[in-house]
Amino acid sequence: MSQEEEVRPVTRGPSVGAVTGAQQTPAHAPVSSALLEVDELRVTYGGAVLALDGVSFSVPEGGTVALLGANGAGKTTALRAVTGLLRFHGGQVTAGSIRFAGRSIARADAATLVGSGIGQVLEGRRVFADLTVAENLRVGAFAGRARRREREIRQELLELFPILAERADQPAGLLSGGQQQVLAIARALMAQPRLLLLDEPSLGLAPRVVAEIGQALRTINERGCALLLVEQSTALAMRATEHAYLLETGRIRTHASTAEMLSDERVRASYLGAPAVLGHPEEVTR
Ligand code: ATP
Repeated sequence: MSQEEEVRPVTRGPSVGAVTGAQQTPAHAPVSSALLEVDELRVTYGGAVLALDGVSFSVPEGGTVALLGANGAGKTTALRAVTGLLRFHGGQVTAGSIRFAGRSIARADAATLVGSGIGQVLEGRRVFADLTVAENLRVGAFAGRARRREREIRQELLELFPILAERADQPAGLLSGGQQQVLAIARALMAQPRLLLLDEPSLGLAPRVVAEIGQALRTINERGCALLLVEQSTALAMRATEHAYLLETGRIRTHASTAEMLSDERVRASYLGAPAVLGHPEEVTR
């Protein structure tokens, strides 16, 4: 397989233009060389609520992928399935497979996943408010693959996010919302993930802050970390990802390049309900 094929997201299935009209559900199979491959995933909660049905998507090594969709489409459920957190929410995978770096991770617990190279930034900027910024970063290194490189990684991150260096000795709870989001991302990066999963990191943040986080995610990706971004808002997906899947009530409705998908008025109006707003940089990470 060529280098180009290895890094390019799946392009099979209908294009965005196929969204309207007939109720089309794309037949989609992930590429076998992908870093993360989710295939025909079915998830239920409490055995009664069918949250995902036949969902397939993939993230190539070093790729950037968005999972988009309205409230309740199943985005968080898809992430929970990948990270082994479903069981804490009364959910279970009843069919399908999840593979990371060629291995099944369907039964792996969260700690094992972090150790194998999957980092995650949970919804809601979950920093340890009473710990200092520096202590939060240390916590991120505990579970990591690269504990021996902790100092070096922290130094890199403090250069990437100078605000964290400035605030290193302050309790994380004193940071602004955008700065806490940056800290949550940096904490996940302390474990040196190959793939970073982010659940709605732009939620509640001003467009200018979102723009800066988008730029930071770009830089992180350029340094080799693949991204899977779950978002309802289009702005961050537009800035930080190359490819997007659109979830609708537990199914993949379509997938395409992010730019192509978000330039489609019908997609934004029918499934995302928001214009693709692009903000201006703000002094959050500096
Ligand atoms: P949001 O952006 O609102 O978080 P989402 O796209 O992430 O939406 P999910 O939270 O994954 O969607 O929800 C998918 C479906 O699963 C919804 O019908 C939701 O009500 C249901 N669901 C989610 N969590 C649970 C749970 N713990 N128990 C029962 N049903 C749940």
